[in-house]
Amino acid sequence: MKPPPFDYVVANSVEHALRLLADGGDDAKIIAGGQSLVPLLNFRMARPALLVDINRVPGLANIKKSAGHVTIGALTRHAKLQASKTIGRHIPVLSEAAGWIAHPQIRNRGTIGGSLAHADAAAELPVVLLALGACVKVRSIRGERKIPIKDLLVSHFVSSILPDEIIVEVEVPALPAGTGAAFDEFARRHGDYAIGGATSIVTLDDGGHCIDTRITVLGGGSTAIRCQEAEDMLIGSSLRSRDITAAASAAVQGLEPVPTQHGSGVYRREVIRTMVERTLLLAQHRAQKTRE
Ligand code: FAD
Repeated sequence: MKPPPFDYVVANSVEHALRLLADGGDDAKIIAGGQSLVPLLNFRMARPALLVDINRVPGLANIKKSAGHVTIGALTRHAKLQASKTIGRHIPVLSEAAGWIAHPQIRNRGTIGGSLAHADAAAELPVVLLALGACVKVRSIRGERKIPIKDLLVSHFVSSILPDEIIVEVEVPALPAGTGAAFDEFARRHGDYAIGGATSIVTLDDGGHCIDTRITVLGGGSTAIRCQEAEDMLIGSSLRSRDITAAASAAVQGLEPVPTQHGSGVYRREVIRTMVERTLLLAQHRAQKTRE
């Protein structure tokens, strides 16, 4: 399949890209890794008149640890999230989740900014970054703003970024001491879009009681979903297996996974429940390890 015709400009700075977007209006689009946009063009589901290539904009792929958070440039490839020592040390759950995205070829090109802007309900990174309480910094010729991931993800393929805005970086807050986190998903073959998945983050006190937790799920609806009721059930508990089983059941209550050729909504809900249970157990184990 061939894309519709479009003009193509390689931006040499963020300012250059922002001017091109502002002049192009709704007909201009950023292209980063191209791993979602190019298929959309080829299927003629997107018909931008202008593509603004940001791949050669300097400084957009840096990963930096500062006091209180890690900032990740929007052009950071999924493969770099997997391999980065900074990410591995401070937010290993992000490396873990990036390893589930498609195949090496796609991970070598696809970017964190592209994944968030594209807002695919089946994508891994939005689910993990929602649990981590991350936010994105976006810029336009009108200025700059920060958007928490919970406000960025509107629905399947819909984010709250405006047509003239570019995500420039993702800011992930540091995890407190005594915290463990885990991501897991289930797909028919590794690299396929998941039937269901989950992220769990657990913070334990010195006595092994849960003082904070975050649970988010993949595949439960039209976007990544945080399961606050299940989280509340675990606060103060010592995360015995029956606490975790009960919380996992609560997490999937009210979810409406879309039936696909890989499973009914009921089956997908059960897969997600299992992923919540598994990730809670693993997050608890990892939290305990940090206390040893
Ligand atoms: P692009 O394709 O370049 O752009 C996607 C959208 O984001 C476009 O609308 C573009 O305008 C916008 N955009 C890009 N960067 C920015 C920015 N900095 N600011 C504002 N807007 C921006 N993804 C998964 O999560 N899990 C999978 O299992 C998975 N499997 C895949 C399998 C295949 C065969 C393919 C082809 C893709 C798969 N993907 C999967 C998608 C892949 O991860 C993409 O890399 C990702 O969704 C988009 O990143 P990108 O950099 O390629 O964005």
